[in-house]
Amino acid sequence: MLQLDNIRAGYKGTEALHGVSMWVDAGTIVSVVGSNGAGKSTTVNTISRLVTTYGGRITFEGRDITGLGPAEVVDMGIIQVPEGRQLFGPLTVAENLRLGFHRQRRVKNREAAFRDKLDYIYDLFPRLKERAGQRAITLSGGEQQMVAIGRALMAEPRLLLLDEPSLGLAPLIVEKIFDVLSGLRAQGLTMLLVEQHADEALALADYGFVLSVGKVTVHGPGVELRSNAAVTSSYLGHA
Ligand code: ATP
Repeated sequence: MLQLDNIRAGYKGTEALHGVSMWVDAGTIVSVVGSNGAGKSTTVNTISRLVTTYGGRITFEGRDITGLGPAEVVDMGIIQVPEGRQLFGPLTVAENLRLGFHRQRRVKNREAAFRDKLDYIYDLFPRLKERAGQRAITLSGGEQQMVAIGRALMAEPRLLLLDEPSLGLAPLIVEKIFDVLSGLRAQGLTMLLVEQHADEALALADYGFVLSVGKVTVHGPGVELRSNAAVTSSYLGHA
């Protein structure tokens, strides 16, 4: 579904990705793991067309998207859950979710379609239904992450990009969120998950890529990477 071929990308002439190739098959979860500064966020932001590409090619569903801008890739269904959630704090949960409902511009009876989508999100995250009228800024970190994922799902992604959804969350909450991601995969959603929590991310993933200083060093099925000695000693905190 998504293919990165030899991507070089970065900031104001400073290259952060030095020839990255990776791919995501439809209906799978692919995890990209690596330490601080490895280039994980840069990879996601390159796919979202927020980072300048100096070389290589990105293909999505057979179409070259390397030259497209961020709004165009969103229109194609590449939707990002950004690092740090980026919610509108003074707005309520429901209002933040409504902000994600923007791709369905030409839908007849838009309000009914919005309500249906909202019910779907509340089924996934019942906690959000309880907090529908609460301002986002007053939510716990885990609840905020649920809103960020819910908002992205409102846009009906074909490919969901998640940048460190576990950031700052307690292990139990991370488990809950990863369970939801696993459920979304069962419904056929395709996801690229960028994570510093490599063990959990690879356990969830069908396939994984390890990034180190802007290069892919190892890749393979998630279960294989979890038992790869080089990966375990460098990234998983156990030998
Ligand atoms: P982290 O988990 O800390 O976010 P990461 O793996 O996501 O790490 P990136 O944020 O992609 O890593 O950073 C890769 C490299 O690009 C780093 O050397 C970083 O300093 C650089 N970089 C990231 N954002 C910018 C920016 N806006 N301007 C200049 N350099 C940047």
